[in-house]
Amino acid sequence: MTKCRECGKILPQEQRIDICLDCSRKKIQKRFRDDPELKDVFKKTIEELRKPENVKKMAEDTYRIVNAINEMRDGR
Ligand SMILES: [Zn+2]
Repeated sequence: MTKCRECGKILPQEQRIDICLDCSRKKIQKRFRDDPELKDVFKKTIEELRKPENVKKMAEDTYRIVNAINEMRDGR
C-alpha cells in the first residue's frame, strides 16, 4: 500500500507515484509564488491534461511537471 509522502494519505492502488494530487497541486502553487513566469507554461500543459483521454494520467503527469520544474530551478 502506498501513502502520500507529504500528508500520509493512502493513495489509490493504481497510482504509481508517492504523492497525492492535493499535495502535488500545493507544491505547484508554491512554485508559482516563487516564480510566476512558470505559470503560463504550466497553464498550457494543464489544458492538455484536461482533455478527457488524459484525465487518468493526470496525477502522474502533474507529479512529472513538478519534477521538471524542480530540475529547471536547480539548473539556474
Ligand atoms: Zn498528500
